Amino acid sequence: MSTSLAARSYESVDHWIDGKNTPPQGGKYFPTRNPLDDKVLSEAAAGSVEDVNRAVETAHEAFASFRASVPKERERILCKAAELLERDRNEFVDILVDEIGSPIRKAAFEVEKGLAFLRAAAGMTRHVTGKTIPSDVPGKFSMSIRSPIGVIAAITPFNVPLIKGVRLSCNPIALGNTVVMLPSEEAPILSNRLAQLYAEAGLPEGVFNVVSGSGYEIGDTLTTHPQVRMVTFTGSCRVGQHIRELCGKHGKRMTLELGGKSPLVVLADSCLQKAVAGAVQSIFMYQGQVCMGASRIYVQEEVFASFVKGFAKAASSLGMGDLRDPNTMIGPIISERQRERVRRHIEDARGKGATVVTGGKWVGNRCEPTVLTDVTPEMTVYAEETFGPVVSVYPITGLDEAIAAANDSAFGLSAAIFTQNISDAMRFVMEVESGMVHVNGSSLHDEPHVPFGGTKESGFGREGTEEDIEAMTEWKWVTIQM
Ligand code: NAD
Repeated sequence: MSTSLAARSYESVDHWIDGKNTPPQGGKYFPTRNPLDDKVLSEAAAGSVEDVNRAVETAHEAFASFRASVPKERERILCKAAELLERDRNEFVDILVDEIGSPIRKAAFEVEKGLAFLRAAAGMTRHVTGKTIPSDVPGKFSMSIRSPIGVIAAITPFNVPLIKGVRLSCNPIALGNTVVMLPSEEAPILSNRLAQLYAEAGLPEGVFNVVSGSGYEIGDTLTTHPQVRMVTFTGSCRVGQHIRELCGKHGKRMTLELGGKSPLVVLADSCLQKAVAGAVQSIFMYQGQVCMGASRIYVQEEVFASFVKGFAKAASSLGMGDLRDPNTMIGPIISERQRERVRRHIEDARGKGATVVTGGKWVGNRCEPTVLTDVTPEMTVYAEETFGPVVSVYPITGLDEAIAAANDSAFGLSAAIFTQNISDAMRFVMEVESGMVHVNGSSLHDEPHVPFGGTKESGFGREGTEEDIEAMTEWKWVTIQM
């Protein structure tokens, strides 16, 4: 796995517009910090309305020729991008460790997923197919063909900047669209490095552009720009809801991948050891800052005590050492704002009578893996997404109660159940209100060609190879009178 022990040194990051580093028009930069100690790592261009307009206009101009590129050109670029990511994997791992506090195994996982998305996108280029359609008019040949739609705004979150940076760009590119990316303010270095990788892979200038800065200040300009045809957004429900309204008003296509409060059910007949391992993986990866994290665990009462004992023991022994040590699972929480949220959720629960079975304390910017029981609906942690290493475990009488409890949430991203009973498993699969559900496996799972996404407040639309072909191309109906 890599790499240097200390943080690398990073040069300041400009926007990436028209195939090159481009200083911000207003000349302003903002500091980007290492979440481990909040020390400044570098500085990044603070985007303005003018920068966004310039990037969109550049992408719009590039679309005029890129839309006519043939599949083998885009396939070659995406294959080359995968080859370069493989070649430079240690550098990408280093950035993920330094810039967003990824433990090295999570950083390596992001690289693997990035490779998978790029390779799958290369395959997509040859699957943009149309239809022949029977016509009622004698001698009329009728068909429908797909075309790319134009400029797509890709807005990414802090927690998986490589996975989402790649995913929200390679599929649009595979289909002949062009992209303006607004990355999280916490991850401008990674996004700029991704732009350089695409350029080295031979992507024509202007096809992929990055404007860094405050989404709060420049996001609306991007979302509502007349030349932006679609917004593909991953982030919080709060911002997602705002983008949903703007896209509705301005007639934009959109996919929204938002927050979650995923349930994981453990029935008494399950293999407890595997259920504990699955639960640990589901909530504590990247210190709980994962959208699919199973922050609600429902355990059948017969095995509740032994599950909680085994789970708390496993949680408290997770590594909190050097981020570059493969045994480290728990790194820092990304920012003071997020730390405050995690602290508030734990203290509110403790104050209202929850039992902190393990954890609840902080080591620097890291929160110990925290297991709560006796959580009630009055507590903030009951319903809200914490986005930290905090999990509530509840006893349930059986499957009926498990399904009702799992569905008692505004979210519906992912879900998991551990059981040996196929009928119970299938009933849960059919009745749980969730975009994704896994039997005898972690709630965290993703592959390029699956319909990825959530229901209820967790999202709108799905990502995936087939899904993105549908969402990011438009139909044209054509007839030829013989
Ligand atoms: P966030 O919503 O704070 O920010 C996400 C992005 O939105 C950032 O790039 C930010 O600059 C931008 N933004 C902010 N205001 C904007 C506006 N008005 N217009 C346009 N863009 C704007 O989210 P975050 O804290 O970076 O990420 C954590 C959240 O993302 C969690 O809720 C998590 O569950 C969710 N998430 C979901 C998925 C998924 O696939 N469902 C994956 C990862 C993260």
